Amino acid sequence: MMNIYGIKRKDLEDYFLSIGEKKFKAIQVFEWIYQKKVNSFEDMSNIKKELQQKLKEDFDFSMISIKKKQEDKLTKKYLFELADGNYIEAVLMEHDYGLSICVSSEVGCNMGCSFCESGRLKKVRDLKAYEMVEQILLVEEDIKKRISSVVIMGIGEPLDNYDNVMDFIRIINDAKGIAIGARHITLSTCGIVPRIKDLIKENIQINLAISLHAPNSQLRNKLMPINKAYDLKELMKVVKEYIEVTNRRVTMEYIMLKGVNDNEVQASELAALLKGMNVYVNLIPYNETNHIEFKRADKTVVMKFYDTLKKKGINVTIRKEFGSNIDAACGQLRSKEV
Ligand code: SAH
Repeated sequence: MMNIYGIKRKDLEDYFLSIGEKKFKAIQVFEWIYQKKVNSFEDMSNIKKELQQKLKEDFDFSMISIKKKQEDKLTKKYLFELADGNYIEAVLMEHDYGLSICVSSEVGCNMGCSFCESGRLKKVRDLKAYEMVEQILLVEEDIKKRISSVVIMGIGEPLDNYDNVMDFIRIINDAKGIAIGARHITLSTCGIVPRIKDLIKENIQINLAISLHAPNSQLRNKLMPINKAYDLKELMKVVKEYIEVTNRRVTMEYIMLKGVNDNEVQASELAALLKGMNVYVNLIPYNETNHIEFKRADKTVVMKFYDTLKKKGINVTIRKEFGSNIDAACGQLRSKEV
């Protein structure tokens, strides 16, 4: 039995062909579930009874469930319970240009970044594609509005769950599915180099964001264990390759940690590292958590860092903050109910 929300249209077409049906039935099913929001095969009036029966035997519509919701002005945080009792979170943000959702890709995370709350619970398991799709479906149903962009920046390292995350992206990007444009989908990674190579071959126009956070390997080693497996040099090499092949601008995320990575020398070093590349740096105000020792860099220090990058010809923005009142901000999501 497969969950219907976890199947790509292409695979559903193959399924129909394999049982001697026409492949356009896959479009019909997609339209029923994603556009007309029907959740039983019996309601699909253009599909004949025997085929409905067959579909019922092979697919189910089981959903994850909303366990808790917290809101402040522009942000809503959802705690979801999965069928096996695990928890994940997603965050909805209201921008001037529309609604975006930050989805989780794993239960827990193995990357162990020292500044991040989500990694305090080691990975329990990968999320299935349908568990990611359903985060979007449930939030859209809850708010009765359409979500226009998706960032895969919640709990988990998406490239550590590559196949399911790619299926998820294909499903939500499908014109007959939730139809979120590739350019409105952002995947953020701590830098799993071989999987970035795979991503290059996918031939899809999504946005790639790299959690960089340090201008040299020595510091990055201290903050992000992944750097010991794939160091900054390798990472920069693959990002250059990504840009060259896809012709897409890449985002470099840089959390501003007080006294750790926020001084002027480091700003210059970062500028030198990124010189001439089609990237932009997103400076992220650090969200302090109860358990972790890092502190947020001072506003004036962040502005100086910003100015230095600008002066050296690097595109840079400072991330708008959402949800810190309800612990819904970057790095604050957890896989626990309490
Ligand atoms: N594993 C992926 C996606 C999840 S993290 C990744 O590493 O990119 C999403 C972003 O939030 C990353 O850039 C991460 O480094 C950042 N982040 C983690 N903890 C944070 C915190 N406490 N404050 C601000 N940003 C944080």
